[in-house]
Amino acid sequence: MATSISLSDVFAARDRIRGIASRTPLRRSISLSLEQKRNVYCKIESMQATGAFKLRGAANAVLALDAPRRKRGVVAASSGNHGRAIAYVAQQLGIDATVYLSTMVPESKINSIRCLGAKVVVGGNDQNAAITRARALAEQQNSTYICSFDDRNVIAGQATIGLEIIEDCPHLDAVIVQVSGGGLAAGVSMVVKTVSPRTRTIGVTMAAGASMYHSLQAGHPVEVQEESTLADGLQGGVLLDNQYTFAMCQKYLDDLMLISEEQIAEAMRYAFRNDHLVMEGAAACGLALLRDPRSTELGTTVATICTGDNIGADSFLDIVDGGL
Ligand SMILES: *Cc1c(COP(=O)(O)O)cnc(C)c1O
Repeated sequence: MATSISLSDVFAARDRIRGIASRTPLRRSISLSLEQKRNVYCKIESMQATGAFKLRGAANAVLALDAPRRKRGVVAASSGNHGRAIAYVAQQLGIDATVYLSTMVPESKINSIRCLGAKVVVGGNDQNAAITRARALAEQQNSTYICSFDDRNVIAGQATIGLEIIEDCPHLDAVIVQVSGGGLAAGVSMVVKTVSPRTRTIGVTMAAGASMYHSLQAGHPVEVQEESTLADGLQGGVLLDNQYTFAMCQKYLDDLMLISEEQIAEAMRYAFRNDHLVMEGAAACGLALLRDPRSTELGTTVATICTGDNIGADSFLDIVDGGL
């Protein structure tokens, strides 16, 4: 049951989302490759129309709905990027979308969802509160709730990133993938382990409020207090009634490593100065691990994902200027 998402689901997702989500480049980081004397690649998912990879899963989930269900609209809860992706797909298809956001979500992300025409409801002080309200609304108005991570179509959509990485770089020693609810990590690691079993799959998340990390340690989903972090895109729990992502991360991830706030800030600075890449905090966690001594044992050809660049310009400039 938990592992019932297969490669054929991922190929179907790839066909379905073409036209809304783009194939992104797997770009070699010249600076890191020279510095570390190994081949370092970065998948630039921030080039998606909505500035984050979440467009893949959202597009796959919404496009899978039949006409009557589309007509009744979609509902989501989000730390920002999933909401923006749902709002964008809904706008493209001319259907209604409602997005619930907690008060932890940065203002820039809230505005970018509102301007796409979605109904936005801000309230509650963590992701769980937003999820509970979103599920209740969907039930009440008989519309479709789309979870940002624990949804078969969402996982299959995010998994298309894994296909593209392995196609572009078949001899990868390790792939580093950010983990929050685990939709991205479940999908990418399933594809990578299925197609290239020798490639190591390493999850990465911030130390502050690492829900999947503590759940894997405990052997079952546990509630973890949300904390303020530069990686706001990774905030939120894994759901106590998790159906897919927990078991898939348990099965397909070789390791899950934690990153400090200082490392996130340093990686954001590094990416901007050396690779001219804007990374939001969540995205920078992958690069932060590559710049950590723990990653030297991961091999000579390694890849990570720039998962998104949705950060307000003022906050970004503060961080790259040296503040935390
Ligand atoms: C959502 C998100 C992640 C983590 O994805 P999950 O599927 O929730 O684990 C990583 N980076 C960014 C920028 C995100 O928006």
